Amino acid sequence: MRTYRIAIVGAGPAGYFAAQALQNSASDDQTFAIDMIERLPTPWGLVRSGVAPDHPKIKTVSKVFEKIATAGNFRLFGNVELGTDLQIKDLTDRYDAVIVSTGSSLGKKLGIPGENLQGSLSAADFVPWYNAHPDFTALDVPLDCDTAVVIGAGNVAMDVARMLALEPHELDATDTANHAIEALRKSSIRRVILCARRGPEHAAFTSPELRELPKLEHTNVLMDGNQISAARDRVGAEPEKDVKSNLDAMGLIVEREKTSHERTLEFEFLLTPIEIHGTDRVTEIALGINEIKDGKVVSTGQTKTIKCGLVVSAIGYEAAPIEGITYANGKIVNTDGRISGTNMYTVGWAKRGPSGVIGTNKSDASEVIKLLIEDLPKEPKNNGDVTELLQGHTVVTQSHWEAINAAEVAQGEPLGKPRVKAADRHELLRLGGL
Ligand SMILES: Cc1cc2nc3c(=O)[nH]c(=O)nc-3n(C[C@H](O)[C@H](O)[C@H](O)COP(=O)(O)OP(=O)(O)OC[C@H]3O[C@@H](n4cnc5c(N)ncnc54)[C@H](O)[C@@H]3O)c2cc1C
Repeated sequence: MRTYRIAIVGAGPAGYFAAQALQNSASDDQTFAIDMIERLPTPWGLVRSGVAPDHPKIKTVSKVFEKIATAGNFRLFGNVELGTDLQIKDLTDRYDAVIVSTGSSLGKKLGIPGENLQGSLSAADFVPWYNAHPDFTALDVPLDCDTAVVIGAGNVAMDVARMLALEPHELDATDTANHAIEALRKSSIRRVILCARRGPEHAAFTSPELRELPKLEHTNVLMDGNQISAARDRVGAEPEKDVKSNLDAMGLIVEREKTSHERTLEFEFLLTPIEIHGTDRVTEIALGINEIKDGKVVSTGQTKTIKCGLVVSAIGYEAAPIEGITYANGKIVNTDGRISGTNMYTVGWAKRGPSGVIGTNKSDASEVIKLLIEDLPKEPKNNGDVTELLQGHTVVTQSHWEAINAAEVAQGEPLGKPRVKAADRHELLRLGGL
C-alpha cells in the first residue's frame, strides 16, 4: 500500500472538495495523507467570512467539510500562512503534491479619483468586517450618513446592499460579528442605492436572491418599472433562462406595493462611477449615464451625482499573490489546474477567478484531482514532516478548531444564534485552548 502525502493550502470550499476527491480516490493499493494548511485559526474560507449572515442554510455545507476533516488521514494546520510561516519549497520538497486553494481575497479597484477617501470601501473589506474575519475588525465603516451607494451587479453587491438596508434587529438571530451588529444598530443609513453599469438583463444577480428581496420586512425595495420593461423589450420573446428568471424576479419587485418604511434599497441601472467627491471623506459620487445601442452599453455623455457618505464597490476579486507562484489576471497561471514545471496544482477561486457558487468548486476540484493522480510518481517521496518546521509556532489542529467551534456555538445557543463568532485571533486561540 502506497500512501502519498498531499498538502492543501487554504481551508475554503475548494480545499475541502479537493480533500474529498482524494479520499474518494483511495484504493486498495494507494491512499492519501492530507495536510490542510490555513492562515486563519478557523477553517471554511468564505463560508465563514463571505456568505451573508442572513443566509444560514448555505453555511450548512460546513457539515460536509467537518465530515471530510474527520474521515481519517487528515490533519488541519490552522494559523499557518503559506508565504510567512512556511514557504512553497518547504511544501513542494516534503509532499508528493501541493494544492493551492487560497481563493481570491483582494477587491478589484474602481480606478477612479476619490476612491481612497474615508467612506470609500471595497466589499472585500466590508464583508469580512461584518463576518468577524480577524483581519478586518478595525475597519473604519462610517455609517453616520443618510445614503450609501453600492457599486456592482452581482450577488456580493446585493449582499452588501441588503446588509446596509436591513433593520438591524433582523440580524439578532444571525452570526453577524457583534461589533458589526452594534455599529449597524447605530447606523443613520436609510437609503441604499445599488448602481449597475449595464442593464437589468445583464446583471449577474441570481434569481433566488432577487426573489428574497420583496420579503424584507422593514425595507422598501425599489426598481424602475420602465427600466425593467425596456430590458424585456430588448431581450425579446425568448431570452436565456437565467435572464428570464431574473427579469421575472425584478418584475415582482416592481409590482410589490410600497410601504411606509423609511428604509429603502434602490436599484439603478446603466450608471458608471466616474469620481468620488469629498475633501477628507466621501460626500458624493458622480456617475456617467449609459444607454444600450445595438445591444451595446454606451455612454450618453450625461452625468448625475448622488449625495452619499459611504460607497462600497463590489466589482470582483483578485487573488492575493504568494511568493513563488505566478499570477495573471488576478488568478494563478495554470493549465486545467496544473501549475507548470512543479508538483503544485490549484483549485477554486485561486484557479478560476472569483466566479461560481460553493458547489462549482466541487466538480472543479475533482477534475484537478484526476490529473494530480495521473501525475503522481510510482513511489511516494517520504521526505520529512512539515511539523518539524513549525516547532514553537501555535498551530490550530482539528481538535483545537473543534473546541473553538463548540465554544462559539455554545455562546450562540441562549441567544438564538447559530454561533457567536470570536473576531480576535487571540480570543480564537484561547477558545481553542491554546
Ligand atoms: C461575499 C461573498 C458571498 C458569497 N455567498 C455565496 C452564497 O451565498 N452561496 C454560494 O454558493 N457561494 C457564495 N459565494 C461564493 C463562494 O464563497 C466561493 O465559491 C468559494 O468560497 C470559493 O472557495 P475557495 O476555497 O476557492 O476560496 P475561499 O473560500 O476564499 O477559501 C480560501 C482559503 O484560503 C485561505 N488562505 C488564503 N491565503 C492563504 C495562505 N497564504 N496560506 C494559508 N491559507 C490561505 C483563506 O484564509 C481561506 O480560508 C460568496 C462569495 C463571496 C465573496
